[in-house]
Amino acid sequence: LVLKEFLSQVRVDRYSQRYQQVISEEKYFGMPLSPVVDIEKRLRDKGSPGVAYFSMEYGLATSFYNGYSWPNKPADQNYPHQNSVFSNYRLADCSFELKSGDIIDLPIYSGGLGVLAGDTIKTFADYKLPAVGVGILWHSGYFRQKFWYKHGQVPAKMRWDPSSYPGLIPLENIIKIELPAATIFLRIWKYYVYSYSHDFAIPLILLDADLPQNNPQIRDLTDQLYRSDNAWLRIMQRIVLGYGGILALKELGYNIRIFHLNEGHAAFSFIEKCRGRSQDDIEGQKKEFVYTCHTPVEAGHDRFAQEDLKPVLRKEDFSLLQKFGIDKDNLVNLTILAINTSACVNAVSKSHQRVMSYQFPEYGDKIRYVTNGVHSYTWISSEFIKLFKRFSSVFKDIDRNPMILSRAKELKNDADFRRGLWSAHQANKSRLCDALRKWGFKEDVFTLSWARRIAAYKRPSLILHDTERLIEIAKRIGPLQIILAGKAHPQDNLGFTFINEMMDKVDSLSGHYEYLKIAILENYDLYLAKLLTESVDLWLNNPLPPFEASGTSGMKAILNGVVQLSTLDGWMVEAKDMGIGRIFGYRADDQDPRGKNFDLRMQEDSQELYSALGELAGIYYKTNNAGRVDFSSSWIDMMVDCIAAGASFNTYRMVDEYKSRVWPA
Ligand SMILES: *Cc1c(COP(=O)(O)O)cnc(C)c1O
Repeated sequence: LVLKEFLSQVRVDRYSQRYQQVISEEKYFGMPLSPVVDIEKRLRDKGSPGVAYFSMEYGLATSFYNGYSWPNKPADQNYPHQNSVFSNYRLADCSFELKSGDIIDLPIYSGGLGVLAGDTIKTFADYKLPAVGVGILWHSGYFRQKFWYKHGQVPAKMRWDPSSYPGLIPLENIIKIELPAATIFLRIWKYYVYSYSHDFAIPLILLDADLPQNNPQIRDLTDQLYRSDNAWLRIMQRIVLGYGGILALKELGYNIRIFHLNEGHAAFSFIEKCRGRSQDDIEGQKKEFVYTCHTPVEAGHDRFAQEDLKPVLRKEDFSLLQKFGIDKDNLVNLTILAINTSACVNAVSKSHQRVMSYQFPEYGDKIRYVTNGVHSYTWISSEFIKLFKRFSSVFKDIDRNPMILSRAKELKNDADFRRGLWSAHQANKSRLCDALRKWGFKEDVFTLSWARRIAAYKRPSLILHDTERLIEIAKRIGPLQIILAGKAHPQDNLGFTFINEMMDKVDSLSGHYEYLKIAILENYDLYLAKLLTESVDLWLNNPLPPFEASGTSGMKAILNGVVQLSTLDGWMVEAKDMGIGRIFGYRADDQDPRGKNFDLRMQEDSQELYSALGELAGIYYKTNNAGRVDFSSSWIDMMVDCIAAGASFNTYRMVDEYKSRVWPA
C-alpha cells in the first residue's frame, strides 16, 4: 500500500527495470519508505505550504551520513579515487589509500557554500519542516584535483554515474524552459534527505539538461559546477536553476510559501515566478522571497553585461531585470536583483553584515545577519557522540538537541570527563595518523591543519611564509606535523601560484623531516574535511579580514574539541571571547570594513602567527609529554570550551534564526 502511494506520487523513470529491487513496500534504498510518502503528501497539501531552498550546490556527505544501500554494484566511477600526498618526506611513496569499497559523496558541490546547503536541508529534516531543496545534477561534479609532482594542480574531470548512485532516482517528469533563442528540456531527479532519526525526509530535486532532445551546447549546461568559460554559459546555468527550479516545483504540484535563495545564483527564480502577473502581484511576490548573501568580496557578486542577457531573455523578463537588477556600473547584478526582489536579506555573520551595510548603504535595515552553522550530527565524530552519551545526565537528549553542548562547561572540572575527552580525541587522531603512517605521522606529536578552498584572501601559504622561523619553533619547542589541503578553482590563476609556492616551500624542507613533517593532501573534499576536522589538535584559519564572510570548517572542528588559531574574521568575531584558542593578525578597519586595499600582509601576519603557534605548541607539549598527559592542563580547558561553543555555531541555531529574523511570518 505504501509503495502504491509512493508510485502514484513519484513517477520513477524505468521503475520496474531499475529500481524495483531498491524501492519496496517498506524500504527506500534501505531507509524507511513511509517518511517519503508523508512528505510528498504534505508538500502538495494546500493547508501547510512549505519552504523551497535553492542552491547551486549541495554537499551532503552521503558517504558517511544517512548512507543508502544499493544491492547491485554501483558503476566503477562511483567509487573513491586514490589520492596522493605531497610531502617533505622523500622516502614515502606518493599514493595514499583513503578508503576502499565505499561510495563517493554525491559530487554536486565544490566547497563551503554547498556544505552549508547540505547541512541546512538536513536540519530542515531534523526539524520536520515541510521543505524541498532545489539544485542541479552536475554530471562532472566540480573537478578532481591531481598534483603534478612539484608543479602544482592539474584539474581532471570527475565523471560519475547518477543512474547507479544509491538513493538517487530519475523521474519521468520533464520540464521545458522556453527562451527566444532556445528551448531547454530538463529532467527532474530526486534524492531524499532523511532526519537523523530516519523518521522524516525531505526531497532534493536536481535538474538535468543532459537529454537527447537538447542540442549539445544545452546538454552541457549541467555538466560542470562553476565552469565559467563565457558569459552565455554562466547565464544559462543560472536560468536552469532559477527558471527551472520554479517550473519543477510547479510540475510536482508542491505548494510553497517561502523561496529561500542560498546566494544570488538562483535570483532568476523571481522573474519566472512573476510570469503573467500584474504590477501589484509582483510587489506581493517579493514577500515570499528571502536571500542569504555569502560573499563580502565585490568581485564575488555575479554580474553580466546587459547586451549578453538581452538576446537570451524574453522581453518582459528583461524589463523586470532592468527594473530590479541594475547596479551602479549599469551591469545586471544578481546580488542587487536578489536584494531588490526579496523581503529580507541575511549576511552570514555579524562582521559580514557590517561589510554589506557599507557596500549597500541604501538598503539599511533590510540586511540582517544570521551566522552560518554546521549540522552537528554530520560533523561530531562517533568517538565524541560516545563520550557525550557516557555523560548523558549532562548532555541529555544529545541526539535531538545539540544546543545542550553548552553544558560542557559544567564538566570543566570533572576529571573523568577531561580524561574521556582526551582519549576520544586521541582515538580520532590515531585514525588520521594511521592514514599517514607511511609519512611517519605520530599520535603524540602536535598536529595542525589548514584545509579549505585555495583563494588568495584565505592565505593558504601563510604558515610557510617564513620557513626559518617554523624550523626554529619545531626545534626549540617540539616537533610539528602540518597538514594542508585545498582546491583552487581551475580558472583561478592566483590560486595556482599559491599551490606552487606551497609545494616549493615544502620541498625545500626535506632536510628537516625529523621534527617538521608537512603533508599536502590531494583533492580536498567532504571526506578529508571530516577526517581532518575531527582529528588534528589545532585548526588554522587565516583569512585576511574582512574577506571571510563566515567560514565553517572551524565550527566542525570545535565540535570535536579541536582548538582554533585564527584571524579575527567571519564567525570568529563572535567566538573570540569563548576561550576556544588564539586570535592573531590584522584587524579590519571599523570605520570602513570593506577592505579595499588588497594587501595580503603576509610578513606581519605570519610573524604573529608564529608567535601564537609557539605559545600553543608550548602548552601542548606541557600537556602531552610523549604520551604522559597532564589532565589539569589549560589545553584541555580550551577543548572543553570548544565543545561548549558548538552550541552556538550549528545549523539548528541558524534555522531557528531564519524563522525568527528572516522568513516571513
Ligand atoms: C566545511 C568545508 C568547507 C568550508 O570551509 P571554510 O572554513 O568555510 O573555508 C570547504 N570545503 C569542504 C569540503 C568542507 O567540508
